[in-house]
Amino acid sequence: MGAEIISGTEMAREIRGEVAERVTAMRSADGKTPGLATVLVGSDPASSTYVRMKNRAAAEVGIRSRQVDLPESISHEELLGWVEGLNADPEVDGILVQLPLPDQIREDEILEAVHPAKDVDGFHPVNVGRLVSGSTDVLAPCTPRGIIELLMRSGHDPAGRHVVMVGRSNIVGKPMASLLLRRGRGGDATVTIAHSRTANLAEITRLGDILIVAVGRPGVVTADMVRPGAVVIDVGVNRVDDADSEKGYRLVGDVDFEGVRGVASAITPVPGGVGPMTIAMLLSNTVDAAQTGRGGDGE
Ligand code: NDP
Repeated sequence: MGAEIISGTEMAREIRGEVAERVTAMRSADGKTPGLATVLVGSDPASSTYVRMKNRAAAEVGIRSRQVDLPESISHEELLGWVEGLNADPEVDGILVQLPLPDQIREDEILEAVHPAKDVDGFHPVNVGRLVSGSTDVLAPCTPRGIIELLMRSGHDPAGRHVVMVGRSNIVGKPMASLLLRRGRGGDATVTIAHSRTANLAEITRLGDILIVAVGRPGVVTADMVRPGAVVIDVGVNRVDDADSEKGYRLVGDVDFEGVRGVASAITPVPGGVGPMTIAMLLSNTVDAAQTGRGGDGE
């Protein structure tokens, strides 16, 4: 029998419904509408699409969204000025600066300029520090938060399980490990992090009751690397050539889906797994930021 397919698309719809209810409740309680500002520098097609999707999703749940389009040639100081303006704007509860930024911009400084209380991406060092310290009163990065919801809502509570995380990026791998290590809901896991320098990767991945893969290479995890009955979460989004597709390519994850679904007990598809959850959690973070002025994903 093949693995259970965990649908992020369905779960994200459920979460967006819950966020919409929170927005309505907030508006009737104190007349406040949460606001999200997205900052797009330049016109990279992928970044433009992501930002458009985020704004559309925000509007659908009743969040007031504002897209700030800035030229590719903007100076570092000018961009800082924009971020500071949004920090001071009372109608903006959440600020998202779409990455990557052009070479003349010092990305770290821009992310640090976003006020921690408005940092709905969870990338500000204050929020990173709070998360690592185990705080639940924190704006945590959207993709790992989405994965925790995927696990919890599909009945795969990581508490007490061994989770192997492949990938150590600041966006996925490291915050994922911090969330899993926290005490309480969605946490209390035993965590191993693997990366490109890990020796005997397959031996490590086979230890995982839950295996999360965020590498950015198609087929990096094959069936022989997965413990029978494991839950597999595929974060990767990769374009591979496909002459049969209208676009000439299709999207695949990092996991050899067809092979691994014969070994795992549950697996997320790509597309339709982690991706939709990331956007749903951005909306949730925006309402958290509007409600508490500081964020908080705890119960
Ligand atoms: P990064 O490139 O920042 O990190 C990749 C990680 O994978 C690094 O830690 C790297 O190790 C590790 N790695 C690379 N090759 C191997 C290998 N052969 N074996 C083991 N580990 C390896 O990527 P991100 O974390 O930003 O993204 C990962 C993937 O997830 C991408 O496909 C991205 O598109 C996707 N993604 C999807 C999102 C969604 O919402 N669906 C959101 C964010 C990302 P080292 O540190 O040693 O270099």
